[in-house]
Amino acid sequence: MRDRVKKFLSRMFYQDKVPSSVILYGKEGIGKKDLGFEFAMSLLCHERVYPPCGVCVSCKHIKVFYQKKPEELKFYGEDKRGKKVYLYIQGDHPDFIYLMPEKGEIKIDQIRGVKDFVYLSPALSKRKVVFIEPADAMNPFAQNALLKVLEEPPYDTHFILIAHRLEKLLPTVLSRSFLIQVPPLTTQELREIAHIEDPFILELAEGSIKIAIDLKEHVHILNTAKDIIEGDILTLYKRSLEVESWNQQDQSTLLRILQAMLHKRYMESKDPSDKKALDLVSMGLEYLNKGIRLSLLLFQLKGGNKNVSYKSKISGHQQNSSS
Ligand SMILES: [Zn+2]
Repeated sequence: MRDRVKKFLSRMFYQDKVPSSVILYGKEGIGKKDLGFEFAMSLLCHERVYPPCGVCVSCKHIKVFYQKKPEELKFYGEDKRGKKVYLYIQGDHPDFIYLMPEKGEIKIDQIRGVKDFVYLSPALSKRKVVFIEPADAMNPFAQNALLKVLEEPPYDTHFILIAHRLEKLLPTVLSRSFLIQVPPLTTQELREIAHIEDPFILELAEGSIKIAIDLKEHVHILNTAKDIIEGDILTLYKRSLEVESWNQQDQSTLLRILQAMLHKRYMESKDPSDKKALDLVSMGLEYLNKGIRLSLLLFQLKGGNKNVSYKSKISGHQQNSSS
């Protein structure tokens, strides 16, 4: 699966037909960023090979860049009123910049900053690369500003965009870009990349390295999830009460694991009660930071307490907290 994307990129590269904007898209945690980064490195590589040579001056700079913390590489500019604003991340490679969200969003000032970069001549390599990750973090203003650049693309600059959800990008941006779908990893690929042998984890991760590693690092959460789904009613009650004292991060991980398990179960059974449990867990994830009683929600996974609607519990809680 992965090979197919690489072959495609390779052909594009050697036929010298790399579009000015390429969007690699697909599910979160499947290695899109690494693929895109490797491709960017090739575009700048002095040996002009894909995969990149890894030893030329250009490749060396990019490698150093990849190892450094973003905080060390932040580049600032000025907005219209002369106020200092964060623009992008740039290491020692003069022809490569990396745009990432600041406080969850990529803003218009950041794209304006990129514009100045785009119209300079490359200094170390033959071309320049602007890497945007995740591109779906660009707000609509930023996307419109990017669109203006893409409408008159500088011939020696490539934009590599990484996106988890295409629907968050403007149709106009999509139509100016070349879209490449990155498929989830196969179980075999996942085993090799994440060094995981547990078949349960490999199956549950559904092709995502991120989820697989998350599961591997949180075995106690995984076991709690198994107990909740597979254990008897007393085990369910016991575990649900324990979970109440966990921190929110772990509670959220637990709900995501439960979601994956229930999703899998529902896909196999098509049983409405599994669907109901899945919806309940999804709702839990949505309301987790609004202070829900997680144990109450988990109790209902076995269909207990059927007369209590969970939504009324939530609104009840909100009423209490606002009074
Ligand atoms: Zn190189």
